[in-house]
Amino acid sequence: MAASAPAQFSKPSAAQQLQLGKQAARELRSKERVLPAGDPRVEVVRRVGRRLLAAMADRTSPWEYSFDVIDSNQINAFALPGGPTFVYTGLLSHLKSEDELAGVMGHELTHVRKEHWAYAYRDQQRNNALLTLGALVFRPSRGVLDAAGLGSTLLLDLPFSRRHETEADQGGMDLMVRAGYNPQGMVDVFQMLNETSKGGRPPEFLSDHPSDSKRIRRMQEQANSMNRNFAPQRPLYFRNGG
Ligand SMILES: [Zn+2]
Repeated sequence: MAASAPAQFSKPSAAQQLQLGKQAARELRSKERVLPAGDPRVEVVRRVGRRLLAAMADRTSPWEYSFDVIDSNQINAFALPGGPTFVYTGLLSHLKSEDELAGVMGHELTHVRKEHWAYAYRDQQRNNALLTLGALVFRPSRGVLDAAGLGSTLLLDLPFSRRHETEADQGGMDLMVRAGYNPQGMVDVFQMLNETSKGGRPPEFLSDHPSDSKRIRRMQEQANSMNRNFAPQRPLYFRNGG
């Protein structure tokens, strides 16, 4: 029997992505220790964010980016649908250069621009269509917020496909280069994450971003294929230490 259900599952709209992302960001800011705007780590993350946004070609995009730093030992960073982006101090303390930070952030911003969460959500709904996960079924007419009431972490914790990860790597590297960063930073940061995972507990970032040698090789090839000399990576420097 052909299922007619899949046709009704459409990708959440830009407005819905923005709404859900903003709500989840509010929840996060109330639950986690978010560093104040004057903190040197926040200043660096926002400066890199501004540079990446300025380098984007899509000036008319609906997305509303914001950049926050969460004080936590997690080695992690992510962007919510619609643009709110969070970087953890645990990740910052492992980075050597601003270019590495730009690599991670460029990757995350590409997930937002390309609406990867929305596609993953749609696909999950299609896959679940015939299961009895009634509570998870998306009802477009009632809006995303109803579903968000179920717990945004559940909704937002969708794994991106390998294809989307590759797209975020490639798009993120293009973006960081347009913003004047050295693409080697992205290769280095994924290599560092890989190394860190060998010592014991893998970095949280890797649970969503399996970082095997093939992935790193692909990044390295993209960087090499640009066939240019890039400025040396800028050391990541936080005034007052941090
Ligand atoms: Zn990713």
